[in-house]
Amino acid sequence: MKRNETLYDTQQMDKIQEVNPLEGFTMDEIGDAHLFTSFDTPMREGAFDLDDETKIELIEKKFAEIMNVLGLDLNDDSLKGTPHRVAKMYVTEIFKGLNPANAPKVALFENKYQYDQMLIERDITLYSNCEHHFVPIVGKAHVGYISNGKVIGLSKINRIVEFFSKRPQVQERLTVQIANYLKEVLSTEDVAVVIDARHLCVSSRGVEDTSSSTLTATYFGKFKEISTREEFLRHIYQKG
Ligand SMILES: [Zn+2]
Repeated sequence: MKRNETLYDTQQMDKIQEVNPLEGFTMDEIGDAHLFTSFDTPMREGAFDLDDETKIELIEKKFAEIMNVLGLDLNDDSLKGTPHRVAKMYVTEIFKGLNPANAPKVALFENKYQYDQMLIERDITLYSNCEHHFVPIVGKAHVGYISNGKVIGLSKINRIVEFFSKRPQVQERLTVQIANYLKEVLSTEDVAVVIDARHLCVSSRGVEDTSSSTLTATYFGKFKEISTREEFLRHIYQKG
């Protein structure tokens, strides 16, 4: 591990969830420490009652209000389209992963060649946004699995990472959501996900640390065995 990296063992987090982990913390402490409540994205009831067009219209109005309160001139030619652009970007791009209708369609193939070793898709580019500050998280995801008779198209692994990244996120939850989805579609426990990412809320504001990155890892099934886990990590970090 490089200097300044923080390792969260996400499987330990299950135990923390049993007691209300945010009790006694102030709003700023929750944001700066990036504390969270659940591995499921907290959604309100009726989250999908509105269609995308209506959501864009509503967000556009609200965002114009924010800009107005900040004192910006919405009649300026450069600024007047911003509320609509931001609303459209929220709904159809950077937060589209909130809607289960946008989940990637995953086709499975028979493992014809009986390849029974681990398969790793490494260095998957990852863009997400922090749920505490709504600013970007930028990094790489590394995903491994051992086939249980079915295999998945390689580009679908990238799509799955992308889908769960396109939500307001915390990195621990993102890691676990990708792993759980893969376990489900591949009908196997043998899944590992590592994410190494930089959080702009840490580098561009707050503590303003521009060199640290955050590492999260979750291992299931055979990847809990030290030798399998070490092989996976070796493949990820010893290039070639
Ligand atoms: Zn943040």
